[in-house]
Amino acid sequence: MTVNYPEPRLFIAGEWVSGGGRRTQPVVNPATEEVLGELPHATTADLDRALEAARRSFPSWRAVPPHERGRILRRAAELLRERSEHVARIATMEEGKPLAESRREVEMSAEIFEWYAEEGRRAYGRVLPQRATGVRMTVLKEPVGPVAAFAPWNFPIGNPARKIGAALAAGCPCILKPAEETPATALEVARALVDAGLPQGVLSIVFGVPAEVSAHLLASPVIRAISFTGSIPVGKQLMKLAAEGMKRTTMELGGHGPVLVFDDVDLEQVLDLSVPAKYRNAGQVCVSPTRFYVHESLCRKFAEGFAARARALKVGNGLENGTQMGPLAHPRRLEAMERLLDDARRHGARFLAGGERIAGKGYFWQPTVLADVPNEARIMNEEPFGPVAIINPFSSFEEAIEQANRLPYGLAAYAFTRSARTVNLLGEQIEAGMIGINSYQISVPESPFGGVKESGHGSEEGIEGLEACLVTKFVTEA
Ligand code: NAD
Repeated sequence: MTVNYPEPRLFIAGEWVSGGGRRTQPVVNPATEEVLGELPHATTADLDRALEAARRSFPSWRAVPPHERGRILRRAAELLRERSEHVARIATMEEGKPLAESRREVEMSAEIFEWYAEEGRRAYGRVLPQRATGVRMTVLKEPVGPVAAFAPWNFPIGNPARKIGAALAAGCPCILKPAEETPATALEVARALVDAGLPQGVLSIVFGVPAEVSAHLLASPVIRAISFTGSIPVGKQLMKLAAEGMKRTTMELGGHGPVLVFDDVDLEQVLDLSVPAKYRNAGQVCVSPTRFYVHESLCRKFAEGFAARARALKVGNGLENGTQMGPLAHPRRLEAMERLLDDARRHGARFLAGGERIAGKGYFWQPTVLADVPNEARIMNEEPFGPVAIINPFSSFEEAIEQANRLPYGLAAYAFTRSARTVNLLGEQIEAGMIGINSYQISVPESPFGGVKESGHGSEEGIEGLEACLVTKFVTEA
């Protein structure tokens, strides 16, 4: 199937908008460096129209019964599935990930819409036991109001689906700024909703200079909640802006996923799971496993096995059959890889695989494996967000936990062991929002996705995802 790249546009107050002398920026295919299209930036007037549409549509959208809102979300899920091949190809052209990963993301996004379609019907309040006869005390859950959402490029279908799904199901209009790197994919998600019958004005999609767009939207009293996925420094900046208007925030930020491999595991099995998990989306995943702490009795064998598998991965254009890892999504990630790996070299890290950019067109980086990296190296402290695995030994449970919890992040952590006692202790002691034991599967629509410490607060999906878009009201009558 060949897909012509659709012209990226803005979607504001029910209209698809482009041209008009607006500033534009090129959208680039990271596998070929070809310009796919020109993305218009929203003007201040565009942003104001999106805000006005959100303000105006809030009373009518909140009044739509939840089962009816759910019907639209479910229909949009069906449309995404019907259009899966088309949407997945656009995502791969924009972001670079292998087509199989994009297809899975379409399915995941459809499931997210279905989850929220149902969950919206469960925005339960409660009736409190009365203190006196005739008194009625009721707790109501109501939509918080228009939500401004900022989604990154690494899951160009899933990130928009999560944010839009929660807001719409709760009865909130949503203004989404997807990443400028992956606009057409996000617009396909919007198109599915529009074709499913979403009323005009409830959803707007805008693009621009991220800091300018977020400053403008967050300064508006129309916006009552913010949902951001991205880096920790930007998250902190948005929280400061949100504080000015006392707006609710959900912050899905970075991590530095530790993986503890104990001495009672089947090494080959752990490697079979770990290598694809590491290089999924070329490591550009906030819950990517990054720091592998392996019991000293297994560490050398584990590192050798990891490196051999990493070297065997087929790296290439995600549209080509058999590609297991695509390029990095944009040149900023190449620069980050160079900076972090040069520094690791200076700190004496052993390079067991990769470590270099792949020559030629495209932002390709070799699947990389490092061993014996000291904690002083930057890569042990900064999220690499790229195809790098770090393998260091540990000798005791306490040491492993100490290393896992050493950083100010706490998003995802993983461990492999057959010991029930170790599993219990890990569950208690690891500081992370999500822990995968003997598995890297930590995200399904019904499970809360979010971090602790500097990795952010609030969760998306799960029952918590809807809660983020609801406020609590207490009504008492005597
Ligand atoms: P970046 O910090 O420049 O941007 C990250 C995302 O935030 C992008 O989508 C960008 O459009 C958006 N953004 C940036 N400044 C913004 C602002 N002032 N207001 C609103 N949105 C803003 O980094 P990058 O080079 O695009 O990505 C690399 C870093 O971002 C990684 O180190 C990683 O920590 C983080 N990141 C995290 C996730 C995640 O899933 N948590 C996803 C993508 C990127």
